[in-house]
Amino acid sequence: MICSRCGAQNFDGARYCSNCGQELAPRAVVAQSPLGAASGGATNLPDPQHAFWLEFVLGIFGFLGIGWIYAGHIPTGLAMLIGWWLIVVTGLGGSFFTGGLGCCLWLPVHFVAPFVSALIIRREIEKNNSVNRR
Ligand SMILES: [Zn+2]
Repeated sequence: MICSRCGAQNFDGARYCSNCGQELAPRAVVAQSPLGAASGGATNLPDPQHAFWLEFVLGIFGFLGIGWIYAGHIPTGLAMLIGWWLIVVTGLGGSFFTGGLGCCLWLPVHFVAPFVSALIIRREIEKNNSVNRR
């Protein structure tokens, strides 16, 4: 479980945070949080680091928005997934018609967009988790 004060990862069932000594919420309280209920009754809140890597790595492979779906933002995630494919098709088409010139512009975007999106969803989860734990 993750500490609500400092965000450190602690063993499930730990009573106090190993990093800052904050008393950790018992599982029953976590399960009652709205986010836990929304993600199919999961007892743990989404892990910001998991969402970050899901979003970043899968985003590079063309599946942007998976981190958002993982975090429970399913409509946003699906919109990003579909929107990203439209951009991919437009980008590839664009680089074809510009004789490879578009590709030079497209490649950095292909890596930067998942990274930025991953940063946003990580911050979003951290914000949500701290609200739900309070
Ligand atoms: Zn802590």
